[in-house]
Amino acid sequence: MKKILAFDSDDTIVVSKMPATAWMAQLLAENLKYRDVCIISGTGFDVIYPNTVAQIEKIPGVDLTRLHIMPTCGTRYYRYQDGEWRLQYQEDLTAEQKARIFEAIETSAKELDMWTENPAGEIIEDRLSQITYSALGQKATPEDKYAWAEANKEKRKLLNDTVKARIPEFEVRTAGTTSLDITRPGIDKAYGMKKLMEATGVSKEEILYFGDKLEEGGNDYPVKAMGVDCIAVRNWEDTAYALKGIAAVSE
Ligand SMILES: [Mg+2]
Repeated sequence: MKKILAFDSDDTIVVSKMPATAWMAQLLAENLKYRDVCIISGTGFDVIYPNTVAQIEKIPGVDLTRLHIMPTCGTRYYRYQDGEWRLQYQEDLTAEQKARIFEAIETSAKELDMWTENPAGEIIEDRLSQITYSALGQKATPEDKYAWAEANKEKRKLLNDTVKARIPEFEVRTAGTTSLDITRPGIDKAYGMKKLMEATGVSKEEILYFGDKLEEGGNDYPVKAMGVDCIAVRNWEDTAYALKGIAAVSE
């Protein structure tokens, strides 16, 4: 029996960095009646909150205490307690580590001609426990990002390898639509799932995970590799149809 449904965020429950639709929020709220729901993302709480959590909060009667929010791959963990979202723990990079990572990304991206001259927002973002490169900037439109991703499939791998060669002591992963996530080694969505299991006492057999990048090398793959049952989706609509079926089966 699955006790927790866990979801990647970008392209699994939302279009990259966009608010969840009312339909998705409704489906998640419906599932919260029967089981816990975890949302794990490479993004920070500042992005997950407005785009997903605030949309779920709008659903009348929703039980927020069954929601587990894990920004930046579970290096932060939020629960709803006494009427507010409370940070349970945080694991951040040091200032020196961050500086090394910033330098490695900028140098590599410039070398490969992947440093956008007029980005929409920051190209490199400090997410405290994770540093993220977004090719077109954090605020690029979904259309621009999908077009870029399509045109730069091979180059993204090259950037990943080049950054990794500069800072081998860190973990470098291709993520989101145009992003590269850099963390301490061992910080990935499997790490987040282990933290979730520790916090809840739930076993990996009791988790069902939804992700759009479950193939080897994708940022959801570590969850599959640790032996959690996974459902591969292409986009949030796939997840919505699956959720509709699951919600209907109450326990
Ligand atoms: Mg995703």
